[in-house]
Amino acid sequence: HAKESGGNGHQLFSEQMNARAVERMTVESELRAAIAAGQLELHYQPQLCLDDRSLAGMEALVRWRHPRLGLLAPGRFVPLAEDCGLIWELGLAVMDLAVAQLAAWDRAGLQVPRIAVNVSPAQLRPELVERIVEILERHGIDACRLEIELTESALTADGPAANGLLQALRRMGASIAIDDFGVGYSSLTLLRRLPISALKIDRSFVAELASNRQDAAIVEAILRMAHSVGLRTVAEGVEHAEQQAALGVLGCQEGQGYLFARPLDARAASAWLAAQCVGGLAVSAAAP
Ligand code: C2E
Ligand code: MG
Ligand code: MG
Ligand code: MG
Repeated sequence: HAKESGGNGHQLFSEQMNARAVERMTVESELRAAIAAGQLELHYQPQLCLDDRSLAGMEALVRWRHPRLGLLAPGRFVPLAEDCGLIWELGLAVMDLAVAQLAAWDRAGLQVPRIAVNVSPAQLRPELVERIVEILERHGIDACRLEIELTESALTADGPAANGLLQALRRMGASIAIDDFGVGYSSLTLLRRLPISALKIDRSFVAELASNRQDAAIVEAILRMAHSVGLRTVAEGVEHAEQQAALGVLGCQEGQGYLFARPLDARAASAWLAAQCVGGLAVSAAAP
């Protein structure tokens, strides 16, 4: 009896597995085709200097404009791309789009100091450096305007190999930021050992910064530690003026979040930049 139900259970299980595998394969081949068909697009979120609200950079955030499902957030397909190995192609497509956009902004006279691009751990292969160099050269962009955002897991997973690659990216001229800092498990010695330029404080610490003393203490400690070892600091998820004020008091250098702007598609981001320029000109024209 037990054997019989076990058998049924097994059969049901494998049917579900099968359905899931089929679904995965469908999405996988769709995603592969989507990359080739140019269905990936980037949205851009400004990163501002908190002392004067000047533009420090733009972070590129990938979306998939799916013909049936509409605009998909990265959470819907980046993990899948990581699992099935498509992340390498996807990552290069993203890098190319991001650098091309920076070049387009340059041509339009819109001043964007830096472009930040998210990179998955699985993209940290030796060929990455030469591929990025090729993309930068093709678009005529200096490597020092590229910031690569990596999560802590990318650095802890594959210690020495990742370290060598990060050194090569730094030698190339790019800067490296640790994304979502504080939610992973990286040790502080990692920050000393790896060639990192900036820390992005995870938005979970920023959320209650103005109301929760413990979160404020954590952010303060991260900022003090980061600045004492010469790292630039960026706060993620700044949604309210009180958070901005608290970050300013604590000395955080840059901020990013809905308070300043949501991620904007290329057209809206260009309009936002143009409005910033006009605003800037108006301010300087008004100055004596
Ligand atoms: P992330 O790099 O930490 O990006 C920040 C995420 O927070 C973005 O979500 C952004 O839309 C969102 N966000 C920005 N400001 C605020 C705010 O004030 N409040 C709140 N609640 N959220 C805010 P998104 O675009 O859905 O991206 C999610 C994650 O997907 C990114 O987190 C990044 O880890 C990953 N990702 C995005 N683009 C790429 C890519 O091109 N390649 C890879 N490998 N990963 C990517
Ligand atoms: Mg990021
Ligand atoms: Mg982040
Ligand atoms: Mg995040």
